Amino acid sequence: MTTPIATLRGVSKRYGSTRALEATDLDLHRGVIGLLGPNGAGKTTLLRLIASALPPSTGQITVAGHNVTGTIAERTAARRCLAYLPQEVGFPRGMTAFDFLDYIAVLKEWRAQEERHREVLRVLALVQLHDRRTVRVSALSGGQRRRLALAQALMGNPDLVVLDEPTTGLDPEQRAALRGILSTAAVHGCVLLATHQTEDVSALCDRVIVLDQGRVRFDGTVPQFVSRASGQVWIDAAPTDGALSSWRTGTGAVKSVGGRPGPDASAVEPSVEDAYLLLRAEDPETQGAMR
Ligand code: ADP
Repeated sequence: MTTPIATLRGVSKRYGSTRALEATDLDLHRGVIGLLGPNGAGKTTLLRLIASALPPSTGQITVAGHNVTGTIAERTAARRCLAYLPQEVGFPRGMTAFDFLDYIAVLKEWRAQEERHREVLRVLALVQLHDRRTVRVSALSGGQRRRLALAQALMGNPDLVVLDEPTTGLDPEQRAALRGILSTAAVHGCVLLATHQTEDVSALCDRVIVLDQGRVRFDGTVPQFVSRASGQVWIDAAPTDGALSSWRTGTGAVKSVGGRPGPDASAVEPSVEDAYLLLRAEDPETQGAMR
């Protein structure tokens, strides 16, 4: 196994009496890692800890060999190797798209102006905003602002890119384009993204981590995750008895996740979403909420 880009050892977070993240050990390697989990699972907390935007209550985090939880100099060195896209980004709305990225690039210590402007134009083109570069941020659409926020995270090809729900607000074409951008970024680094879009995980991720109530419930490859659901997803004329979820598909047949299949039911290939529903149902505390 190669040296991990980021490591977590015994990392936990409490907010007062709320235990948002239980003691967690993780090694993050090159590739795209999808972080799934219900609202309140601790996903944003985990991302903010790794991005050094939040100090852990216990434990140690390293990024590119630098101790995020160490001295200011170590944390600064770690921050030079990572980028973070939070769910909400506050923009100085009077700035143009170009000016905003140039301003962020200055904050990221790009001193040589020509080289900095080249990088700003590169990431603007990457997120397909090149032709909007002279438009004020206040005049951009929601999807365009989201892509501009992503562009700042991709500047300088960081070793670790941490993205909190990057596809929110994007239309299907933009989401497909984003997958291309992220898979390129993952060639030399690690992209860790929290999402509710299970299709993004199946289309893009090498590895999936499922978090629930501050604990890692699954950590493995996407095929390993999906295989947990094999033989538990059915197509029939009617819902399967005791299914977690059943719905009539476009063909008129009924797809059921879990339950006891009737004699005419046939098992179908599970999706990431099916595996996620079944995993969530394994936790007795969530069963009431799922039914
Ligand atoms: P997710 O991103 O999976 O929705 P979060 O990491 O935002 O989960 O939240 C995990 C838990 O921590 C939740 O119970 C949430 O209410 C709590 N929490 C998050 N941020 C704070 C905060 N700043 N102060 C107090 N509790 C918080």
